[in-house]
Amino acid sequence: MPDERVCTEATELTRTLIRNACVNDGTLASGQEVRNVEALEDYFAGAGLASERYVAAPGRVSLVARIEGRDRGAPTLLLMGHTDVVPANPAGWRRDPFGGELVDGILWGRGAIDMLNLTATMAVAVRRLAAGGFRPRGTLVYLAVADEEALGTYGAAHLTAHRLEAVQADYVITENGGVPIPTASGPKLPLTVGEKGVNWRRLVVRGTPGHGSMPFRTDNALVTAAEIVRRLAAYRPKARILDVWRRFVAGLELPSEVTAALTDPDRVYETAAAMESLGLARVAHASTHTTFSPNVARAGAKVNVVPDRVELEVDVRALPGVTPSEVDAMLGEALGDLRPRVDVEAPSRDEGSLSPFETPLADALARVTAALVPGSRIIPRLTQGATDARFFRWLGVPAYGFGLHSPRIPYTEYPLMFHGNDERIDVESLGLSALMWEALARDFLG
Ligand SMILES: [Zn+2]
Repeated sequence: MPDERVCTEATELTRTLIRNACVNDGTLASGQEVRNVEALEDYFAGAGLASERYVAAPGRVSLVARIEGRDRGAPTLLLMGHTDVVPANPAGWRRDPFGGELVDGILWGRGAIDMLNLTATMAVAVRRLAAGGFRPRGTLVYLAVADEEALGTYGAAHLTAHRLEAVQADYVITENGGVPIPTASGPKLPLTVGEKGVNWRRLVVRGTPGHGSMPFRTDNALVTAAEIVRRLAAYRPKARILDVWRRFVAGLELPSEVTAALTDPDRVYETAAAMESLGLARVAHASTHTTFSPNVARAGAKVNVVPDRVELEVDVRALPGVTPSEVDAMLGEALGDLRPRVDVEAPSRDEGSLSPFETPLADALARVTAALVPGSRIIPRLTQGATDARFFRWLGVPAYGFGLHSPRIPYTEYPLMFHGNDERIDVESLGLSALMWEALARDFLG
């Protein structure tokens, strides 16, 4: 168990951020991250830290705190945590999602792992360093950022586009990773080095209206859309094996036959299809394919009218290296002869992003975590979801997702908790992360 005072301090701050309920539903008026910014300013008060607010829109506020380095040639490390959370439906929860209840060493609430735990533990480390008179060679920047959960428009996208000087860094760490995976040779700690490119597509399917009482030989847009959905679900783009996937699988220390099959572009699909663990099957598929998920359909106005317009929204996630234009080509391949029946709009056309795994920062993380969790080793991974790291990777800045977790909540539980019910974190993990950020700053910037 890490130092009890650190655990308590990290738990109290995380709980405050949970209770502030900065729920981001994608609308401009939601989020109101200014409440968590105020809580962090209160927490930093008296520690001798310089901090500054950045306002992207009313209530959509981010906070930057800095410990300036002595040596201009030494690197700058940015610790970035978002302060907003996604909505939660209390009906599905065993505890109040915004109560911040602490039960038997587990803190419950929306944001407990995504990512108020990290936003809080980064702040604890920065405050402890500042209060202790830490004067490093390199510069440490802490960023509590708004609006991560709605593509960062009023947060990281805004700051990197308009206030880059405030968040400029040589390395960035944000969510998520570091949940230990047990293996024969000890726990492996995944370090997120890249993510897929968000490519949302809206397909507008046209037809001809008519009377619902005479459907014979009508041009029903819903019937066409149903076939399009079927084709998208059946579409199988070619697998690509990225180096990061190869290294992640090697780190899992699976039987050599399974490792070989999961890293063979001709066999990974069938291997995932036959896999007993649904979680690993989905990860294996999504890590080796550009994926197409038709998730929203809007069709028809009245039961006795043949619909002439259907909107389909498709969540496409492109592997790093697959361009938005290649995504459109794949879409054409999937739709085949129905492609001319569809107008395609692209609400987002993002490239994936990937940082190198061999960097001085990754080396420092390996040293620091091996000291805190003896026998552990870091392995690189690609995340399926999008994080604010991508804005920095696009600028050429190595950006990682990490944290440090105890084994108390098994790693298989984590995928269910992200944006799901019963999100929670154990106190030991909060203490471990806080100590890890502090040790990292001393090692890497010292
Ligand atoms: Zn998050």
